[in-house]
Amino acid sequence: MIKQVMNEVTSSIIPCPECKVKNRVKQFRPDKIPLCAKCGVKLVSKEENDTQVWFSKSLKNISSIPDPECLGEQK
Ligand SMILES: [Zn+2]
Repeated sequence: MIKQVMNEVTSSIIPCPECKVKNRVKQFRPDKIPLCAKCGVKLVSKEENDTQVWFSKSLKNISSIPDPECLGEQK
């Protein structure tokens, strides 16, 4: 899931653990866990949400670096 975010910075697709509907999450926020659009179940855990928030922040930070090693695929 994290690798998916790395390729697609602005949004990520997260399948619902309950009904398997794929939800597009545009932005992760520290105190707002994304919910399934269909059944309202939390798509990620609190811990995972925190990780995503941290990750999107760090992506912004490294965007100024010319050739980051962690970006496997160049566009
Ligand atoms: Zn659902």
